[in-house]
Amino acid sequence: MKQLPAVFISHGMPSMALAPGPTGRFLASLPKHMARPRAILCISAHLEGTRALLTADSQPETLHDYGGFGTALHAMRYPAPGHPKLAERIVTLLRTSGIPADPLPDRGFDHGAWVPLSLMYPEADIPVIQLSIQTGEPPSYHVALGRALAPLRAEGLLILASGGATHDLSAMPDHPRTAPPEPYAEAFDDWLENVITAGDVDILQHYRQSAPHAERNHPYPHEHFLPLLIAAGAAAPSTAGRRLHRHFEYGVLSLAAYRWD
Ligand code: ZN
Repeated sequence: MKQLPAVFISHGMPSMALAPGPTGRFLASLPKHMARPRAILCISAHLEGTRALLTADSQPETLHDYGGFGTALHAMRYPAPGHPKLAERIVTLLRTSGIPADPLPDRGFDHGAWVPLSLMYPEADIPVIQLSIQTGEPPSYHVALGRALAPLRAEGLLILASGGATHDLSAMPDHPRTAPPEPYAEAFDDWLENVITAGDVDILQHYRQSAPHAERNHPYPHEHFLPLLIAAGAAAPSTAGRRLHRHFEYGVLSLAAYRWD
């Protein structure tokens, strides 16, 4: 079986499901450039735990966990199956690595998962499991969590981390959708590409101290950055990642995507 990459994507606004734009078109094209996964392990910024939680429903619901965006988006469903047995196995894998983990029943797909998946795999015929981030744990924990998941890539699992390369929502209303990037967001975005393409996970996990304008681009609880650390951790140590996509919306939201092979 071919090893699948670990991928980080920025999921942007929920409305991307209906109005894809450049980032939606990028997501739709992404599966052409990798083997078909046996299952997808999605780490969304919108599922948080105090320990690693693995969704364990066989037919997860589609959650409309946001305000606004209208009835057409609210009517959308992403009917991919779950995979309770695989979720149980990943729980065991994490516990064996010393990471507390539990299955999470009765939890559907949040928009950080189903919006990009509806563009990437519209047939919804690949099982999807979600894994939580833990905002109470440090960046190093999330890198270690990714490291523990790495063997799953050789078993045909796609590790798909879904957050935001920059995520200063407070500044978003000040800008139209097509506004050029603000210098502080662009500087962070450039730093991120340099560190990822250098394969330097140590600097990445110390981004708070090292990156320009880290606090402004990822205000605590920095939940849209943590999925990226899990994807980077799921690469072999010192493996360089590469940027797959670059686009800004609202001047402050980088929709960058990265891949580690
Ligand atoms: Zn989000």
